[in-house]
Amino acid sequence: MQETVTNNNYITAPDGKIDVKSLTLSELTECIKEMGEPAFRAKQLYSWLHVKQARDYEEMTNISKALRDKCREKFSLVTLKSVQVQESKLDDTKKFLFALPDGNIIESVFMKYRFGVSLCISSQVGCRMGCRFCASTLDGVVRNLQPSEMLDQIYSIARITGEKIHRVVVMGSGEPLDNYNNLLRFIALLTDENGMNLSQRNLTVSTCGIVPNMKRLADEKLSINLAISLHASNDDKRKELMPIANRYSIAELLDACRYYFEKTGRQLTFEYSLVSGVNDTKEDAAELAELIGPLNAVINLIPVNPIKERSFVPTDRKGAEAFKNKLEKSRINVTIRREMGRDIDGACGQLRRRHLEENS
Ligand code: SAH
Repeated sequence: MQETVTNNNYITAPDGKIDVKSLTLSELTECIKEMGEPAFRAKQLYSWLHVKQARDYEEMTNISKALRDKCREKFSLVTLKSVQVQESKLDDTKKFLFALPDGNIIESVFMKYRFGVSLCISSQVGCRMGCRFCASTLDGVVRNLQPSEMLDQIYSIARITGEKIHRVVVMGSGEPLDNYNNLLRFIALLTDENGMNLSQRNLTVSTCGIVPNMKRLADEKLSINLAISLHASNDDKRKELMPIANRYSIAELLDACRYYFEKTGRQLTFEYSLVSGVNDTKEDAAELAELIGPLNAVINLIPVNPIKERSFVPTDRKGAEAFKNKLEKSRINVTIRREMGRDIDGACGQLRRRHLEENS
């Protein structure tokens, strides 16, 4: 698939101009110098983009009108347009549908916990990984998101809700390690001390297990958290749920996990969606405990969120508790994820799909 489109090596927006929100501070400084302006202007501009999170050059009051006009000429300021917000009546979860500059639609989720606000963002329009229970992948991938488009999900929600964002999880639609270069640039911008300065420890990337890119990520010397979507305790069952299991065996996946832990020291999380009668038996729990026991890891159980296109049934509360107890007896750290926003198409890609269906 096509990676980031570049022009003079810079990412461009659909209007052909440089996507200024995807530039690092040093790249922006180069551009500003080329425009015959002093370097400190780049820092001011960068701060307007990533700290104050301005949506228009007009907001940048300490930058002269002349320079603002030059910037408008040269750069595209990518901002997402909120097209729908669904608020849960059960908890403080809000689901946002955003329009991208080219009209594609993505979704992001706002969740309020006791420790603060956590955002779940998308990394691609659609997904090509084909996990059977997932709504995001039913029509395949449309395109990768640019770093600016990942960032602006966060900036837009912060602005709309007025809330401070404590944690970000790249667990929305898309496979982040299938959009590797843009993901890394997004991480660099989001955690830059001159920008929003989110702590890397408060950022989690979730992958279905693209083994070579997990190893690459391990070598990047970051301290972000990695979550791995496992969903089965042996290769045969995993292949039924996740096509990626045909490419990489669980043994290879766990090798990459060990490598990640050795390189980063960050505790790993395994996501395990409980599907009634498919992966939730006592034997499944025993097999899972054996796999994960030797790793310093947490297992996150979540009863599968049913989607209308498939007939998967979630494990009930009692079954989930029994599965959890069985793992705990083997001294595994395990949590049952609170199902947030169940009443608002909570699962990956469901809201976007409904929106597309209703508007087609
Ligand atoms: N592609 C990445 C991140 C996006 S999916 C990954 O696979 O990890 C985020 C998580 O939600 C994954 O663990 C995914 O398997 C899970 N998921 C997707 N659809 C789901 C559903 N209907 N019910 C429960 N979990 C689901």
